[in-house]
Amino acid sequence: MEDLVVGLIAVRIHILTIFPQMFAGPFDESIVKRARQAGLVDIRIHDIRQYTHDRHHTVDDYPYGGGPGMVMKPEALFEAVEAVRSGPDTPVILLTPRGRTFVQREAERLATFSEVVLICGHYEGVDERVRQYLVTDELSIGDYVLTGGELPAMVVVDAVVRLLPGAMGHGAEAVSDDSHTSGLLQYPQYTRPAEYRGWRVPDVLLSGHHGEVERWRRQESLRLTLLRRPDLLERASLSPEDRRFLDSLRSQEEK
Ligand code: SAM
Repeated sequence: MEDLVVGLIAVRIHILTIFPQMFAGPFDESIVKRARQAGLVDIRIHDIRQYTHDRHHTVDDYPYGGGPGMVMKPEALFEAVEAVRSGPDTPVILLTPRGRTFVQREAERLATFSEVVLICGHYEGVDERVRQYLVTDELSIGDYVLTGGELPAMVVVDAVVRLLPGAMGHGAEAVSDDSHTSGLLQYPQYTRPAEYRGWRVPDVLLSGHHGEVERWRRQESLRLTLLRRPDLLERASLSPEDRRFLDSLRSQEEK
């Protein structure tokens, strides 16, 4: 990964991995690259093997009690975290399918810290003492099992970086309309041409009537959320008008 950091850093993210090369590319493009260039985030990739003390840089061993696969040893992980973090208050997050599901609120929470450590597991996972005595949080990016914690770490970093003030440039306002940030799924978006293969953009979006556009977008958000993620509506902040619209959709469904 290119070294781009300049100026005052808003957030420092340490990533502990046995595959540092995997991060070249994703962090060297687009918004994450620009945020690094602007000094909004300092992403430091640390090779866990550098914290081993044997000739072979061993990071894994057989599981006690038998069973398939290997387990990541605790020593290098403890030493790496203790070497890179600036103090005991820094959140130390283990990426694991056993963790709490990573959601937008969690990205918003992480974006408030000045330093975060992410640990990428491999093999069958990490020695339980890492979870018990080193990490402060465990996060899963979804109910499926990947080969390692690198892709989950990239997902977490990407979601956090785009929330940092200044990271989105002209797109900053767009963040508040995003699915999950507003508590609802986002309304459909269209761009030019106004007609493509006979498919027209909804007239209201071409009307220039700001109030009508806002009303249409809100209703489409509500419609899509009711259809695809009704669970989100239980937590969303809804106006009396929103509730009336949802009731009318539900009663149409019943007919
Ligand atoms: N045996 C473990 C289990 O069943 O929980 C899975 C280990 S997985 C093959 C190897 C590593 O990939 C994990 O230690 C974790 O760091 C990462 N990983 C896999 N799936 C993940 C997910 N959904 N979210 C976050 N990390 C994940």
